[in-house]
Amino acid sequence: MMIKRPVGKTGMEASVIGLGGEHLDNRPREAADEVIGAAIDSGINIMDVFMPGREVRENIGAALKGRRDKIMIQGAIGSVDLNEQYDISRDLAVCKRYFEDLLRFLKTDYIDFGLLFYLDTQEAVNAVYDNGIAAYAAGLKKSGAIRAVGASTHNPDMAKRLVEDGVVDMLMFSINPAFDMMPDNRDDIGRMIDGINSSALPGRMDMKRAELYRLCESRGVGITVMKSLGAGKLLSQDHTPFARAMTVPQCVHYALTRPAVASVLVGCASAGEVEEAVKYLRVSDAERDYSAAVSSFKENRPGGFKGSCVYCNHCRPCPAGIDIAAVHKYLDMALLDEKNIPEEAVRKYGELEAKGSDCIECGNCESRCPFSVSVISDMRRAASLLG
Ligand code: SF4
Ligand code: SF4
Repeated sequence: MMIKRPVGKTGMEASVIGLGGEHLDNRPREAADEVIGAAIDSGINIMDVFMPGREVRENIGAALKGRRDKIMIQGAIGSVDLNEQYDISRDLAVCKRYFEDLLRFLKTDYIDFGLLFYLDTQEAVNAVYDNGIAAYAAGLKKSGAIRAVGASTHNPDMAKRLVEDGVVDMLMFSINPAFDMMPDNRDDIGRMIDGINSSALPGRMDMKRAELYRLCESRGVGITVMKSLGAGKLLSQDHTPFARAMTVPQCVHYALTRPAVASVLVGCASAGEVEEAVKYLRVSDAERDYSAAVSSFKENRPGGFKGSCVYCNHCRPCPAGIDIAAVHKYLDMALLDEKNIPEEAVRKYGELEAKGSDCIECGNCESRCPFSVSVISDMRRAASLLG
């Protein structure tokens, strides 16, 4: 059974596994039919179409005939193929033309999530603001041509700026445990992927990324995830920086256990790959558990995520019935600004059956936590800040 989650406050619910459309590019129409048919049959209801080419868009449109309402589309604003090469445009007229083409080629009159495309630098965000492209997206939402405004970015600083400026209802962001440790805000996805090999990853969560997820959760900005497998590197014993290769369900689970995440989009080239992606729904909690895979690096270098709660639930069960990962999520939101704790954190914490104040300090969780989190003191902190 597919699980769905709200995409922030958009009023839309996405399947936790979504479809990335990139592998449908330069493929025959039958491939789009096969993959999209398998995705819909598996309960997937969200798909990303960043590809600007006419043929792939028409193939997807044909595959959606008679079932457009079964799947929500993320469509890019600014993805173009001028000169027959993939490119990004910050020219309003060009962005409009490609967006109108998207509707026409998909044979639809609306796009669910209109994504301001690839905003990885200050210059890109400035251009989208200054050239009227953000205003164009807002106008599309007003007219009903898109149902929510989003943005795709790999850079936490840009993501934070867009959320704080109130420009987006949702984000498409790259999330995996290696990216979450990268301290410098690389504005080039190629360099980020190269960095996955690096032995220089610090053994802790990058605070900017952690804060972005909390900010999104507190503002009701949902996140859909790209690059959850780190371009496949995290699945490879040769290329992962961690002591062991991760599995697809572990990568998916890692992304789904970040605050604000609604859906992890996995690129699939065949019905078989769709089947692989949705396997996540059927595997056991033990098979989803990524904690052992990311708790140490290669060459016995210790310390992946030391001291930070990564919401992995490895510390279960708690004799007091506390959902320790959930308490940490709301505590982390509260710690962003203790004098201005988001209502969302207070409300969601208040709905938990057992709270930090119920902790009997048995220490069972601390002995099980692979990341050496000081759970007992965190429970005390949660009790003092949130009740
Ligand atoms: S306290 Fe440790 S084991 Fe428990 S959810 Fe956090 S990181 Fe995982
Ligand atoms: S120390 Fe507190 S939070 Fe941890 S298992 Fe014991 S009661 Fe639960």
